[in-house]
Amino acid sequence: MAQVIGRFAPTPSGPIHLGNAFAALLAWLDVRSAGGRLILRIEDLDAERCPKENAEQLMADLIRLGLDWDEGGLADEYRQSKRGAHYQQAFDELAARGLVYPCFCSRAERLAANAPHREDGAVVYDGRCRSLSAAQIAEREASGRKPAWRVTVPDLDVVIRDGNLGEYRENLAADCGDFIIRRSDGVFAYQLAVAVDDSAMGVNHVVRGRDLLPSAARQSWLHETLGYQPPKFYHVPLLLAADGKRLAKRDGALSLRELAQSHTAEEIIGLLAWWAGLLAEPAPVSPGELTAGFSWRRVAKQDITAVLPGNW
Ligand code: GLU
Repeated sequence: MAQVIGRFAPTPSGPIHLGNAFAALLAWLDVRSAGGRLILRIEDLDAERCPKENAEQLMADLIRLGLDWDEGGLADEYRQSKRGAHYQQAFDELAARGLVYPCFCSRAERLAANAPHREDGAVVYDGRCRSLSAAQIAEREASGRKPAWRVTVPDLDVVIRDGNLGEYRENLAADCGDFIIRRSDGVFAYQLAVAVDDSAMGVNHVVRGRDLLPSAARQSWLHETLGYQPPKFYHVPLLLAADGKRLAKRDGALSLRELAQSHTAEEIIGLLAWWAGLLAEPAPVSPGELTAGFSWRRVAKQDITAVLPGNW
């Protein structure tokens, strides 16, 4: 069997929270328990929102938890903000096959488009700009409007056999619609960048939060369309705050930095492993001690209400 190559792919738009650390621990265990290789890729496509200092802090936080990686980090080769040439190449390839078109719709127009909303709140784009004539495109460009760029998706059922959550199925045309691969400000979109990078870096295991499960269908299709081998996906449950909402940066009390002031790295790893279903109780443990008993069969499938134990 091929060596497992996994990755952490954080977006350093702020300090990491427990939810990020939870997914990072599982990505680490997936790779380390298989003797594989782990890559740290900095997803700073939105360079303004993702200053280098955030990435440095995030790397220090991961190291403090004992979650190390084998390659990657702040070298240009692993920073999405520096990898535009790779994305351009894939964009050109899709364009050469007639799969890319400019979309001049404003956000309001997209929302008003007569198309169903997905379960996750995303709008299925109805494809109205797909049939613009060259003259219509020229007219819109002349008025100074900058288009975003969409890729035309087929009427195709994509099936993801997720290594943690089981089968996920979606019809690209009906459930997703033509999606944006380059924003109107020129920045390449997450979906394209991730597929290009996972392929270029040889990633064959993608472990991340289950909020990205619908993205797996788009990415898997991009992999196939560009002639890449899609990775195996493992989506992990989300940590929820007491109000049932996804744990986020606003939940200050559960910020990793704050917990780290009063708890050791091993206590935090023990807490995350307990939430993940890998420990019967939140006892201090190092990541390395968890590798021997790690199995996806033991990992939680349902979202987790991340309530701190009474004695924390
Ligand atoms: N950069 C994304 C995030 O931090 C994760 C992307 C991925 O794992 O595919 O949410």
